[in-house]
Amino acid sequence: MTAKIIDGKAIAAETRVKVAVEVARLARDHAVVPGLAVVLVGNNPASEVYVGSKKKMTVEAGMKSLDHQLPETVSEHDLLALIARLNADPAINGILVQLPLPRQIDAQKVINAIDPGKDVDGFHPLNAGRLATGLPALVPCTPLGCIILAKSIQPSLSGLDAVVVGRSNIVGKPLAALLIAESATVTVAHSKTHDLPAVCRRADLLFAAVGRPEMIKGDWVKPGATVIDVGINRIPSATSGKTRIVGDVDYGRASERAGAITPVPGGVGPMTIACLLVNTLRSACAAHGLPPPAV
Ligand code: NAP
Repeated sequence: MTAKIIDGKAIAAETRVKVAVEVARLARDHAVVPGLAVVLVGNNPASEVYVGSKKKMTVEAGMKSLDHQLPETVSEHDLLALIARLNADPAINGILVQLPLPRQIDAQKVINAIDPGKDVDGFHPLNAGRLATGLPALVPCTPLGCIILAKSIQPSLSGLDAVVVGRSNIVGKPLAALLIAESATVTVAHSKTHDLPAVCRRADLLFAAVGRPEMIKGDWVKPGATVIDVGINRIPSATSGKTRIVGDVDYGRASERAGAITPVPGGVGPMTIACLLVNTLRSACAAHGLPPPAV
């Protein structure tokens, strides 16, 4: 069997178009333009590239993008003061603080300071708690993207056996909560799991969020399963002497057994920004007492 490739780029582009349609409707019917503030501390080149893409796509979707670039040496006090100003600014519906933050800053303290209604990353404990208890919440973007990709193959995940490898607060745990909400039967595996290959082989839906290049082998995949690879790992290229990006799944072998699989790059990655736009739109609707958007 050769797996169907789940085209994350195309699905992300479709999602951004849906967001843009809703944003245009908001502007036309309610004179509301959602605003996303992105806070970048220091000059991490990868973060700068990522923040640049976010800005471009926010503007393309018809939203306002406001960037705050702070020096690497900024104090926690000054960063928290900026967050307080953004919380109070009615033109801002979403606040995203690019992680990681420099050592002098307690990232959890910064996340806790963001107004939960503007927490478009979905990392605030209130949103995490709401998600865990089945209440409406702003949900972390990468797991939300994973669900959209899985549902592009199986519109109903109800009753399917889902295995999530990884239990981080930003991917594994919220993904498991979203899968429970979809009525999947969920196993969360991690570094202490016994016989991980056997656990993975049970999965109709296999999600890899480990951060280890090609760790999930082809013969760990149940024939016909849907495989969603969250991993982004940079490894030396055997041919060019440069580096290349691979996922957490051995894509070549896994795609011989899976029913459908996400490539890396071009799978989950593009969905993260698309879902950030979805969350910003949702926040803007909620802030103006409007019903949730149709996306
Ligand atoms: P993380 O915080 O480092 O968590 C990794 C998880 O993998 C942990 O729960 C860890 O278990 C588990 N793990 C590590 N080694 C393992 C092993 N040998 N067997 C089983 N489980 C193992 O990573 P993360 O932030 O969730 O990110 C995971 C991957 O996704 C990374 O490659 C990251 O770059 C990527 N990512 C991509 C996007 C995107 O937009 N596509 C967004 C976020 C992250 P323990 O808890 O037991 O230590």
